[in-house]
Amino acid sequence: MTASTLDPVALTQALVRMDTVNPPGLEDRCVELLADLLSGAGFACRTHEFAPHRTSLVARIGGRPGATGARAPLCFTGHVDVVPLGRAAWQHDPFGAQIVDGRLYGRGSSDMKSGVAAFVTAAIVRVDRLRGQTDGPGLSLIITAGEETGCEGAFAMAASEQARELLGTAGALVVAEPTANAPVLGHKGAFWVSAKASGKTAHGSMPERGDNAVFKIARAALALEGFEFETGPHPLMGAPTLNVGTVCGGLNINSVPDAAELGLDIRSVAGQSHAQVLRCLCRVLGPHIDLRTLLDVGSVFTEPDDPWMCRVFELCAARSCGVPERRTASYFTDAAALRLPLGMPPVVILGPGSPEMAHQTDEYCQVERIGEAAQLFADLIDDWCGVCA
Ligand SMILES: [Zn+2]
Repeated sequence: MTASTLDPVALTQALVRMDTVNPPGLEDRCVELLADLLSGAGFACRTHEFAPHRTSLVARIGGRPGATGARAPLCFTGHVDVVPLGRAAWQHDPFGAQIVDGRLYGRGSSDMKSGVAAFVTAAIVRVDRLRGQTDGPGLSLIITAGEETGCEGAFAMAASEQARELLGTAGALVVAEPTANAPVLGHKGAFWVSAKASGKTAHGSMPERGDNAVFKIARAALALEGFEFETGPHPLMGAPTLNVGTVCGGLNINSVPDAAELGLDIRSVAGQSHAQVLRCLCRVLGPHIDLRTLLDVGSVFTEPDDPWMCRVFELCAARSCGVPERRTASYFTDAAALRLPLGMPPVVILGPGSPEMAHQTDEYCQVERIGEAAQLFADLIDDWCGVCA
């Protein structure tokens, strides 16, 4: 495939045919294909490996380094890792990218290789106009590895010493996760915490000589049953939630367990601080329960009256003949890791995949939505960069 024959559907197929099930991920082959296409078209490409074969890519064109606000580049982001296939048998080859009745089947077809293919195609189609601009804001594409296991590639780039230079700034960010081409204003945060109790082991026939950690962790679990957040519901995201997802304790039936642990899954809403949630958990659980953060992915939200978000809604309405609803997504995205280093731009989640198909057996993407997304992304580039079609 070359830049001149680029087609977003064929590019989606090429990406789906590469197995990037995470773990182990091995995203480097996908990234290599995209880097070849983009550098061949004139983009400056840089890669970042957070582990062997776990490569992310930043491609840029036009713009001036250090520009902020509306003069900073428009940025698109997407991940190329996919989730495992699950236990159920597939009717369609998960890496075949077969098209049947207008549906492109395969793992990652909706989440979200179609989204990546659509913005890479749109960017390459607009490249001549962008290259010719001497003082335009430019464009940047951030393609990540390891998103499905807690935004690993994006967090690694954000934490790297060369983060500023590598990622640059962005004036607005499009996350091409599956939304069926309808704009989504943000998502809840995910805060996963381990709560541990310790005790003293003894023979199971003499429990009075031990200190049972399971009783302590059981009391902790019950104390969380009616946990109340200090933050009220968000008008679009609803209320924050807490789930006790796992409990483990004890190694054998005839010993007093000296360790026990809960796994807590907290979903926060816009405006809620995870540090404050942690303080609140400490207070409820008391000093004998040790808390450790396992995953800290903040919420993301852009007000619907943000001027750029209004333009996104207008452009989507013009393509799909109808005003999109104001809504947020249930999944989290790399925007949580990238937004701060990029300078806190407004963020829209917008991509061709079907949200209900993400992580499903026989995952597919409607083929017509892929071309539609590439056109919509080209509209967003024209609008931001001031290039006329
Ligand atoms: Zn995804």
